[in-house]
Amino acid sequence: KFITLEGIDGSGKTTILNKIIETLEKNGYADQLVVTREPGGDKISENIRNIILDNEYTEMDPRTEALLYAASRRQHLVDIILPALKAGKIVICDRFVDSSIAYQGVGRKIGIQGIKDINNFATDYLQPNMTLYFDVTPEISKQRVALRERKKDRLDQENDDFYAKVYDGYADLVKENPQRIKVIDATQSVDEVFKETMAELNEFLVR
Ligand code: ATP
Ligand code: C5P
Ligand code: MG
Repeated sequence: KFITLEGIDGSGKTTILNKIIETLEKNGYADQLVVTREPGGDKISENIRNIILDNEYTEMDPRTEALLYAASRRQHLVDIILPALKAGKIVICDRFVDSSIAYQGVGRKIGIQGIKDINNFATDYLQPNMTLYFDVTPEISKQRVALRERKKDRLDQENDDFYAKVYDGYADLVKENPQRIKVIDATQSVDEVFKETMAELNEFLVR
C-alpha cells in the first residue's frame, strides 16, 4: 500500500506525519511501515534535492528543476519505494508526483502535461493508492512558514502569486482525483488535523 501526503508549504504534512508514525508504531504497525520523503530519502536523491534547493542557484531554469525532481523521484522510487512495496510494506511518502504537477506544472507555468509525461517516464505510471491532501489557504501557509524552523532554501524567494498558483494546481488535482485524494481541513489545530487524518488512514488500512 502506497500512501502520499500532499499540500502547500506549511500545511502541516511533516508535523502530522511524525504523529502518524508514533501512533501506527504503537498500534503494532512498526515492522510494516516505511516512511520516507520526497525529494530525497536515499543518498543520490538527497543530493539532487540539495542542488534543487540551493539558494545560490537562482538562475535554475524551470524545466531543469522539473527534470531534477523527476530524476530524484526515480532514484528514490527504485531505492526505497518499490522494494518496500514488493515486501508488502505500508509506504508513506511526504510528497510525490502531485507536488510536481502543482509546483512545477502550475506554479512555474510549465504546463501539466509535460510534467505528467516526464513523471510517467520516471515512475513507470506508479500511482499512490491513497493521497492525504492537507488543505490550507496560501495565507495560513505563509504565516506558518514564517514560524517554521528550517534552513532557508531557494523556494523562500518565491512570492505570493507563485503559492496562489500552486494552491490552484492542487485544487484542480483534487477535483480530478476524487477517489484517490482525501482532503483534510488542515486549517484546524494540530490535534484536530491529526484526528481527521487518522480516521482516513484507519479506514484505508482496514480495507
Ligand atoms: P513543507 O512543505 O514546507 O515541508 P509542511 O507541510 O511539512 O511544510 P510543517 O513543517 O509540518 O509543514 O509545518 C509548518 C509549521 O506550521 C511548523 O512550525 C508547525 O509547527 C506549524 N503547524 C503545522 N500544523 C499546524 C496546525 N494545524 N496549526 C498550527 N500550526 C501548525
Ligand atoms: O516539503 P519539503 O520540505 O520537502 O519541500 C522543500 C521545498 O521544495 C519547499 O519549499 C517546497 O515548496 C519545494 N518543492 C517544490 N516542488 C516540489 C516539491 C517541493 O518546489 N515538487
Ligand atoms: Mg515538510
